[in-house]
Amino acid sequence: MFSLTAEEVAKNRDRLCELDGVIGDGDHGLAMDAGWQAASKAVLQLDEVEAAPTFLFNTAAKAFLNAVGASSGPLYATAFMRAGTAVKDKHTLSDDDFLDAFRAMAQGIQDRGKAETGEKTMIDAWRPAADAAMEARRTGANISACLDAAVRAARDGCEATRDMVAAKGRSSRLGDRALGHIDPGAASAVIVIEAISAFLTRYDG
Ligand code: ADP
Ligand code: MG
Repeated sequence: MFSLTAEEVAKNRDRLCELDGVIGDGDHGLAMDAGWQAASKAVLQLDEVEAAPTFLFNTAAKAFLNAVGASSGPLYATAFMRAGTAVKDKHTLSDDDFLDAFRAMAQGIQDRGKAETGEKTMIDAWRPAADAAMEARRTGANISACLDAAVRAARDGCEATRDMVAAKGRSSRLGDRALGHIDPGAASAVIVIEAISAFLTRYDG
C-alpha cells in the first residue's frame, strides 16, 4: 500500500507543486513525494512476517516526519500513528480493522491540524472520505465498495475547496485570492485515497 501510494504521489509531484504554487509556497508535491518515498522505503525494510501493523505504521510515521519539513509532515505522521493505534495488538488486519485504521488517519489529521471541513485543507477530502467509508460499511458494503465511496467523497470534497476561502495553513493569508483554486493538500489526499482504494481492490480476493 505504501509503495503503490508513493508511486502515484510521485507521478503527481509536479502537478501538486503547481497547485501549491498558486495558493501556497509551491513545495507540496516535493513534500508529499519525499514523505511517501521515505515511508515506503522504511516499511519495505521491515520484516514482512515479524512486523506487526502497528509497528509498520509507526515506522512510516517516523520516516515521513523526518523527510518532510512542510505542514504536511506532522499531519501525515499523525495519521499513520493513529492508524497504528487503531490496530494495536493485531497481527493481521480484517476489513473492519483496515477501515478503523483509515478512519483513524482522517481523525489524526483533523486532531493535529485542528481544521474543520470548509476551511480549504486536506480535511475537506479526508473527512468526507472517512465518513463515506464508514457509512458504506454500516449499510453492509464490502471493503472495496467502502473505499470506492471514500474516493468519490474525497474527489467531491477536493473540488468543493475551489469555492472556499482558506482558514488554516499558509493560504489563509490570501483571503479571497484563494477563491477559484483547489487546495493542494486536498488534491494530494485524493491521490492517496485513490491509491489505498486501488491497493484494496487489487488484494481483496
Ligand atoms: P506548507 O504549507 O508548510 O508548505 P505543504 O505545502 O506540504 O505545507 O502542505 C500544504 C497543505 O497542507 C495545504 O494545502 C492544506 O491542505 C494542508 N494544511 C495546512 N494546514 C493544515 C491544517 N491545520 N490542517 C489540515 N491541513 C492543513
Ligand atoms: Mg507548501
